[in-house]
Amino acid sequence: MTAAVNTQRGVDIHCEGVVHLYPSPEGDVVALRGVDLDVEGGEALALLGPSGSGKSTMLALLSGLLRPSAGRIRIGSYDLPRLSNRQLLRLRATDISLVLQDPARNLLPYGTAEQNVGFAQRGARGRKRALPWSPLELLQQLGMGALAGQTVATLSGGEQQRVAIAAGASVAPSLLLVDEPTSQLDSASRDQVISLLLKVNGELGATVVSVTHDPAVARAMPRTVSIRDGRIGAEGRRGQEYAVVGRDGSVQLPVDVLDWLPPGTLVQVHRHNQGVDLRNPELEDLDR
Ligand code: ADP
Ligand code: MG
Repeated sequence: MTAAVNTQRGVDIHCEGVVHLYPSPEGDVVALRGVDLDVEGGEALALLGPSGSGKSTMLALLSGLLRPSAGRIRIGSYDLPRLSNRQLLRLRATDISLVLQDPARNLLPYGTAEQNVGFAQRGARGRKRALPWSPLELLQQLGMGALAGQTVATLSGGEQQRVAIAAGASVAPSLLLVDEPTSQLDSASRDQVISLLLKVNGELGATVVSVTHDPAVARAMPRTVSIRDGRIGAEGRRGQEYAVVGRDGSVQLPVDVLDWLPPGTLVQVHRHNQGVDLRNPELEDLDR
C-alpha cells in the first residue's frame, strides 16, 4: 500500500476575530477572545501557550468539533461555522484529523491498535486521494509494530497516544491537528512522532498544527504561534521571536517586559525610522 501519493497541497486556514465562550452556571468562561490567524496551505506550526490559554479550544474549533461563539473560520474552501453537523462529520472523517490530548478519547478500547487505524482509514473511504500507508506501516513508524495486534485497552497511555497519532495520519488528511502529541512519550518515541508529523507535512503536503509544551516539537516546526489569555500573543519564525499586531491594533507584550510596562501603564509611543518604542515615563523619571 505504498502507492504513489497524489501530492496535494494542504488547506490554508483563515481565522478572524474568533471568540469562544463556554457557558457555566458561575458565568461564561471566555476561552478565546478574538483570535486572528492565517496559515498557508502546507505550513507546519506549533501552537504554544500556558495551560488554560485556549489551545485545545482552538484545535476543536479548527476541526469543526466545536462551533465558535463569534468570528470566522475558513479551512480551505470551507466556511466551517456555516456547515451542517453532517458536513462537519464528513470533513472530520476525510480531510481534517484531530488527535485529542487524551488518547483514549480517540480510540475504540476493545479494538486492536491495527484495527483502530484501519477504522480511521475505512471512515475516509470514498475519498479520491490514495492512502499512502497501511495501518501496520504507520504503527511500525511509531515503534508500535510489535503491539499492532494488542487490544488498545491493554496499552499504556503513551502507546495509545501513538495509536491515535497513527490513526490521525492514516487518512492522509489535508489538515492534521494534534494536541500535545508527545506528552506521554520518552525521547525515542517522541522523535518518531516528530518525524511522522514532518512526513505528513513534507511528503503528503498536509497543513499541520500541533499544540505542544515540548521544546523538541516546537523546534521541529518552522513556525510557532503563542496564545495567551485567548489571543495570539507572539510568533516565532526560523528562530526569531515576534509580537503580533492584531487586526484591532492590539499587541500582547512579551511576559518579561511586563516588569517595565505592567498592565495599566500609560506608555509614550515614540516613532522613529525603525518603528516605535513604548516608554514608561515613570521609569524615565527614575533614571534621572
Ligand atoms: P489549553 O488547551 O490552552 O490548556 P483550553 O482550550 O483547554 O486551554 O481552555 C481554555 C479555557 O476554557 C480554560 O479557562 C478552561 O478552563 C476553559 N474550558 C475549556 N473547556 C471547557 C469546558 N468544556 N467547559 C468550561 N470551560 C472550559
Ligand atoms: Mg489543552
